[in-house]
Amino acid sequence: MIRTIGILGGGQLGRMLALEAKRMGYRVVTLEPFPDSPTGQVADEQLVAAYDDLRAIGELGARSDVVTYEFENIPLESVLALEADRRLVDPNASVLRITQERILEKTFVRECGIPTADFVAVRTRAEFEQALVQIGFPGVIKTAMGGYDGKGQWVVRDAAAAEEAWAAARGRALIWERFVPFDRELSIIATRDDAGDVVSFPVSENIHDHGVLAMTIVPGRVPVAIADRAHAYAHTIATRLGIVGTFCVEFFQAGDELLVNEIAPRVHNSGHYSLDATQISQYELHVRAICGLPLVKPELWRPAVMVNILGTGEGDRLDGVRDVLRDPLLKLHLYGKTHASLRRKMAHFTVLGETIDDAIARAERARAALHWADDRVTSRT
Ligand code: AMP
Repeated sequence: MIRTIGILGGGQLGRMLALEAKRMGYRVVTLEPFPDSPTGQVADEQLVAAYDDLRAIGELGARSDVVTYEFENIPLESVLALEADRRLVDPNASVLRITQERILEKTFVRECGIPTADFVAVRTRAEFEQALVQIGFPGVIKTAMGGYDGKGQWVVRDAAAAEEAWAAARGRALIWERFVPFDRELSIIATRDDAGDVVSFPVSENIHDHGVLAMTIVPGRVPVAIADRAHAYAHTIATRLGIVGTFCVEFFQAGDELLVNEIAPRVHNSGHYSLDATQISQYELHVRAICGLPLVKPELWRPAVMVNILGTGEGDRLDGVRDVLRDPLLKLHLYGKTHASLRRKMAHFTVLGETIDDAIARAERARAALHWADDRVTSRT
């Protein structure tokens, strides 16, 4: 029987997961290097330790009935160590191994018969020369491991830029992809349980700014045939991976072409809206899957728009909150982070609308009302 859930990672995704788990009656322990983390603030306990501290990882395993993670850049060795201790980890180490390394991930997707942008793995100088000929320009060079939110990534338009990326990578394995002139970025959040049942959320349309998610629109404004294909791909990926838990598949849509860009083996920023716009959230479905509870199909109440609120570096106090909270169909989520440094994810809101256009207009209005200010003046807002 599962009573305690261990979460590797202490960010906002872990926080929302922990809040849902607590509502459902579970104990939550998180492991994260920085004290008073967004997850630690709402969990029963936080172990303050590095993700590669195997002693602390062992302790997390001993205190938990199942361990999960809220981001995929944790060392594979830590999950392997938990499994060697016969601890239950979901998603398991074989899923993490594939999804945390872009070359393995894209190769896996291709093996599922699902298209991706053309790519060449670049581990040596000879492979770099080969990619230059085979993929060329414009291209996107990415580190195979450790990248997120556009970090460790270079759009290259000529040989000089490619050489710069090669030098900046300093020997790390890379992937060189064709630059996709997409119409839209889409994602599907889905959950698979141990019995093989898969449920999925509607297609999300995601708008990024400098590689960071800015806005999610649900349902995405795509033809039914594209949405159906995205669902089919996500179901195939879930089954072939044998994942247990919530995950996200990110896509590029260019005309009739639908390419998989990435798989995140965890709850995802583009599924935040599910806390307010569907009868069951991605977080509850994750808890259900890893705790052996039944899955149900998510149903969208109304069109929804989620907006990420990023720090600007101009101050730590969010002004305009009183204005945005006057919208009866808007829910604001703050992550408990003290410092709003530049591009740091601090909060988000989800707004429901009569139509997608209505939700977008209300979201734009709310976004314009919010700004960061210097916190030296105490105020009730
Ligand atoms: P990723 O880390 O792979 O999710 O990439 C971050 C963002 O960079 C994506 O959401 C896209 O906006 C952009 N991007 C990544 N790969 C490509 C590509 N091959 N072609 C065009 N844009 C890309």
